[in-house]
Amino acid sequence: MIEAYIGLGANLDKPRAQVMRAIDELANLPDSRLLAVSALYRSTPMVLPGQDPETQPDYINAVAKLETRLDPHSLLDALQAIEQAHGRQRNGLSWSPRTLDLDILLYANQQLDDERLQVPHAGIAVRNFVLYPLEELASRELAIPGVGRLADLLNRCSPEGLEKITS
Ligand code: ATP
Ligand code: MG
Ligand code: MG
Repeated sequence: MIEAYIGLGANLDKPRAQVMRAIDELANLPDSRLLAVSALYRSTPMVLPGQDPETQPDYINAVAKLETRLDPHSLLDALQAIEQAHGRQRNGLSWSPRTLDLDILLYANQQLDDERLQVPHAGIAVRNFVLYPLEELASRELAIPGVGRLADLLNRCSPEGLEKITS
């Protein structure tokens, strides 16, 4: 069994319910066990340069920690099947609004880079909606392969625009 961290995000069609349902679905992944889930967070959308963030609804984000026997590509297949079941539409544009996004943030201490999968996730170092929930589940000493120590990434990443949901 290896440990993997999954980033969840949604900003369409009752995003909070989408994320809650996705957490249940992660708990039912084959050959896997859900070990922990962060709090939910609200974040302002990432947009492409020149786009106005006000044109997209806020995101609900969380991070989940899994133990799994699925290889990384089988895990991605399973996550994409869940996204599809949530009605995820892909229009080919990055960072467009979505009912559910499930990204593999970390897969043990492995580094992968092929046409389907980059692990650690390419955005991990600079996304507050990933790093702050991850801090709830992992040691600040966690070494993110090829990237750095979680504590150092957090020091460089402002929590601006990120709000932990407490109720
Ligand atoms: P971002 O990756 O910047 O968060 P996104 O999540 O909106 O953007 P998607 O449309 O969900 O991007 O995915 C586009 C492709 O990214 C997927 O088809 C998948 O093959 C690829 N991909 C590469 N690395 C990963 C990863 N670590 N987790 C999930 N998908 C990945
Ligand atoms: Mg994503
Ligand atoms: Mg994605």
